[in-house]
This record gives sequence, C-alpha cells and structure tokens, in this order.
Amino acid sequence: METLTGMGPHLQINLERLKSTLLELSRIGFNDDDNGVYRVGFSEADMDARRWLMGLLEAEGFRPTMDGAGNVYGRLGASDLPSVTVGSHLDTVPAGGMFDGALGVVSALEVLRTCRDHGLEPRWPLELLATSEEEGRYGGMLGAQAIAGGLTPGVILGMHDADGNRLSDAMTAAGLEPLGALEARRLPQSMRAFLELHIEQGPVLERLGKTIGVVDGISGVFKWIVRLIGKADHAGTAPMNMRSDAFMGLADFAHEIPRIIDEDGTDRSRLTVGKVELKPGSPHTIPGEALFTLVGRDSDENVMQELCNSCRKSLSAIARRHNLRFEYEQISWLAPMKCDPDLVESLERQAAALGLSFVRMPSGAGHDTQFLSEITRAGLLFVPSVGGVSHSPDEWTHWSDIESGANLLLNAAVTLATEG
Ligand SMILES: [Zn+2]
Repeated sequence: METLTGMGPHLQINLERLKSTLLELSRIGFNDDDNGVYRVGFSEADMDARRWLMGLLEAEGFRPTMDGAGNVYGRLGASDLPSVTVGSHLDTVPAGGMFDGALGVVSALEVLRTCRDHGLEPRWPLELLATSEEEGRYGGMLGAQAIAGGLTPGVILGMHDADGNRLSDAMTAAGLEPLGALEARRLPQSMRAFLELHIEQGPVLERLGKTIGVVDGISGVFKWIVRLIGKADHAGTAPMNMRSDAFMGLADFAHEIPRIIDEDGTDRSRLTVGKVELKPGSPHTIPGEALFTLVGRDSDENVMQELCNSCRKSLSAIARRHNLRFEYEQISWLAPMKCDPDLVESLERQAAALGLSFVRMPSGAGHDTQFLSEITRAGLLFVPSVGGVSHSPDEWTHWSDIESGANLLLNAAVTLATEG
C-alpha cells in the first residue's frame, strides 16, 4: 500500500454501485411536488435514512452503531484501535438536493466496500461517519459538535428552531434521549484523521475548470443585527432636508460595502446584508427604523476584526450624516478554521498522482470538518457543483467528477489507514 501515493496501482471505487446507493438515498424524504429532498434534522425521513444506512452497513458486515446524537458509524477493521474516519451528514435543508452531505456519506461507504472487495486490512480501521443535524434547523452541526465535545446540557435543552420547536422534543420523538448527545463525544486518541468529500456549493471549480478543490480552511463568520433609528414622519409633509430617514442610512451603508472590502478585506472576505425590515413599513411614512442583518466572513480572524471595525466606523458616520442613531448587537462569532497543512499537501500530492486537476481553496460555507478538526487532523475535498447551485432540487454534480472525488477520498483514506 506504500506505493499508493506514487506510481503504484491506485484503488478504484465502483461508480455504478455508488450511483445506485446515492439514488436510493435520494428517494428517502423525496417530495414529488417540488422534487426536493426533505430530510430535516431528526424528522421522520431523516431517521428513516439513518435506519436505512444502518441496515446496509449491517448487511455488508460493517458493524453499524448510532451514538446519542444520532450520528451513525460503520467500521472496517479492529474495534479497539484509533480510526481513520470518513463521512459527512445525512440530513438536508427543506427542498434540498441529492448530493449535499449524502455524497460524502455514500462515498465513505464506497471506501469501505472497495477495501473489503480488495481484501485490504489496513493497519488502522476505516470508519464511516454520517453526522446529524448539520444543516442547522436547530443551530447546525449538532452531531459534529457532540463528537468534538462542545455541547452542554444547557445548550442542548435551549436549542429550538425558528418556529420555537425544541430540539429536545424532536430528539425524543426520534427515539433519542436529548442529553445522550453528551455521550457522543470522541477522544482525540480514538481518531487518527477525518476526511470529508462534499459538493462545492459554489461556482469556483466549474469556472476554473477544475475537478477537485482541496480545502485549506473554512471561513469564520460573524453575524450582527443592526438598527438605524431615525424618525417616522409623514412622507408628504416632511421636507427632504428635514428628515431622519433610516432607509437612506441603510442604502448609504450598502454602497460602502465594496469600499470596506477593498480597504480592509481580502479576496476571501464577504459582507452581506441579507434581511431587512423597515418600520413602520408603510408606503406613505418615512422609515423611522431600519433593522437589518450583517453577516461577514473571512478565513483570517484578524481580517474579520478589521471588517467589524470598518463597518462600525462607516455606520457611525452614516448615522451622523442622516441624523440617525446606530446600534448593533453581535449575535455570533465563529472563528475561522485551518485544515491540517500536512494533510492538505498530501491530498494535493495524491490528486496529482491520480492525474486529477485540482486547486487549493477556502470554504465559504461551514462543514462538519470544522468541528472534527478540534479533535483530529481533518481534510475536506470539494467536487464541482453545476452552476454553483445547492440547497435546491436543481443541485447537480457530474458523475465523472463524483468518481474522481470518491477515488481521491478512497486513496487518501487508505494511505492514512496504512501509515505508521
Ligand atoms: Zn452539506
């Protein structure tokens, strides 16, 4: 197996088998009305998919287990040695596509199957992981956070979705004891590495004409709720120069965003105003208040800080100019994560050895990998999303790209499971 990274024969996954398993999974939670997949975390369809996967693992001798957070595991090799773990999430957004998360889980199964077919007995066991509630109905990456040991009873019991439904009720209905998620924690010494194959969910690989993205880090994210407060007045009687129009402040800030990124950001920076509410919200009344979200991202935490400072200064200046008051609240701050540099280089070497075109890139979206990286060396691979589309029934990735990605995943996992 030592020759796998060099000129030796490479292992090959069985694309037809991968394809039929992935298509079978895409029927679980499939909605005929909009052609979307509905496997929202801990829903009936989500749990059906977990039981379906465990049935497959059992039938093929991969010893399935489910932990207290609903994560499903399968294993090839010894039970008592640290694993090389491969996987992704099984849940989807409402009306999601058939590749997001599912591709990484089914590819992990294909890694186990291919090794079994070749009678490989790697030094370290290969483990499949299908995580739970990654998409964030209740907050996101619950299964991965549980594995990393990042949950507390207060967090678990306090989580609820946008409609006020509690995570603990959903877990109970799914047959799980909510605080059992605390028992899902894995110790660093129980895992040698984690690898995830995922669709890019963006347009970069397709535009560059590359097959593989080797992710070197996941962007950090901050979220603000901003409030610009002016004065609601009659839209007819208040002269233009005597207004405190909160919308004008918001509009000015929107125009400042490209400058802020040019001056204080990087090509990996993003600033987005995604949700806006004007009050009182009447066509004939000057908006007395503009309430909006501001989400910023970068792969460097210092740059994130700079972006925050710059947004604050800009909003203060705009508020003065329009005679407004400016308030904001930071709702969340998620630090950026760097993938293990040696693992990134090794994935690039193996992509080259397999003759695949690849590029090193950041991930602008969060993934399970970022929490797994807290306990082990973690690597993330992307394959192209057609048109950059994701979280939609129109999500598509070409089978040839899936084959390339799964082959890279397989050879990388076997190399890690073979090394001393
Ligand atoms: Zn995903």
